[in-house]
Amino acid sequence: MLAINGGKPVRDTFLSYGKQSIDDDDIESVVQVLKSPFLTQGPVIEDFEEAIANYVGSSYAVCFSNGTAALHAAYFAAGIQEGDEVITTPITFVATSNAALYQGATPVFADIDESTYNLSVSKVKEKLTKKTKAIVSVDYTGQPVDYDPFSDLAKKHQLVYISDGAHSLGATYKGKKVGIQADMTMFSFHPVKPITAGEGGVIVTNHPLFRDRLRLFRSHGISKGNIKPDQGDWFYEMHELGMNYRMTDIQAALGLSQLKKIESFIKKRQQIASLYNEAFKEMEGLIIPSQLRNTTSGWHLYVIRLDLSKFKVNRKVIFDSLRAENIGVHVHYIPVYKHPYYQQMGLNSSCIHAEHLYNEMITLPLYPDMNKQDVKDVIKAVNKVLKEYLQ
Ligand SMILES: *Cc1c(COP(=O)(O)O)cnc(C)c1O
Repeated sequence: MLAINGGKPVRDTFLSYGKQSIDDDDIESVVQVLKSPFLTQGPVIEDFEEAIANYVGSSYAVCFSNGTAALHAAYFAAGIQEGDEVITTPITFVATSNAALYQGATPVFADIDESTYNLSVSKVKEKLTKKTKAIVSVDYTGQPVDYDPFSDLAKKHQLVYISDGAHSLGATYKGKKVGIQADMTMFSFHPVKPITAGEGGVIVTNHPLFRDRLRLFRSHGISKGNIKPDQGDWFYEMHELGMNYRMTDIQAALGLSQLKKIESFIKKRQQIASLYNEAFKEMEGLIIPSQLRNTTSGWHLYVIRLDLSKFKVNRKVIFDSLRAENIGVHVHYIPVYKHPYYQQMGLNSSCIHAEHLYNEMITLPLYPDMNKQDVKDVIKAVNKVLKEYLQ
């Protein structure tokens, strides 16, 4: 009997959908900084920035207090301002488009591709106007978008191409790490993301001009400036209205130590995703995530899609039933323009594929520290619940 109807749940304890992996070396690395003279932006930030740039193969990396701050800085660096339009996907965390609003610009939502769930290039083309300033794609679930067509489109129309890679650090596109395909790429170090710094974010780029503007924005828009003859070493100048978006050395120390383990984290995620694929590929009413050729996913999320015509109940009942089995399922994401704030701002849109996906998807637990039994429990619970509700 299903747990939701009073039966025994598949698990006794709740399994969350995502979680950080912290070892003794991470703890030691943070303690070292706490004993050092610098707590906020000090030498470890530079080490971390260099390590991230080396890892993804970019010329520069600029760290921020979190991924949202990093996106805001990227939009600033791109020159996005009032009157501009930024085209992005509705299937993302609100931060992607909120950062456009911070700059006074208008987010415009283009629909997703039906099979990959990533932003569709052809739908972006339909939304281009004279006001379009930038395209922002999201590597949803860790699967890279098809970067080349986006890059080509941005170049053709002289737009800035920004990638929200919050899910995709360590993923690859055509044999190269995500991070060098767009003009600027953001990675987040929130605890559920591929690696964590507690909170944290970074923009990687190959353009020195963007690097300089990112650094300026991170620290109040202040630079040392040109010291005039009557001024001493106390002197500095504020050139732009920036923010205090600095990362601390404490965060950077954790990030640096985590980055050393990223390959093993991703391998573990890939293994779990393969086990899920194997278990679910023949299952009635369930569609497994389709992967683009020439890419490897970072598998930040494993999202199943339900063919609701095969079931007696809707997604909510299936979701609640899985939760009752103690499986920490989730839904990523509510199409951004559906949120009350966006509706009130007149930013409503109609992205049919995104809305269908939203009604039919469920995120299953996936993180490196899951053990074999955890994976088995998820598979068992999905089997149990879906079988019960098949027509
Ligand atoms: C997590 C996330 C962000 C924001 O990153 P934070 O570090 O939490 O501020 C932005 N976009 C997407 C797609 C995310 O998943």
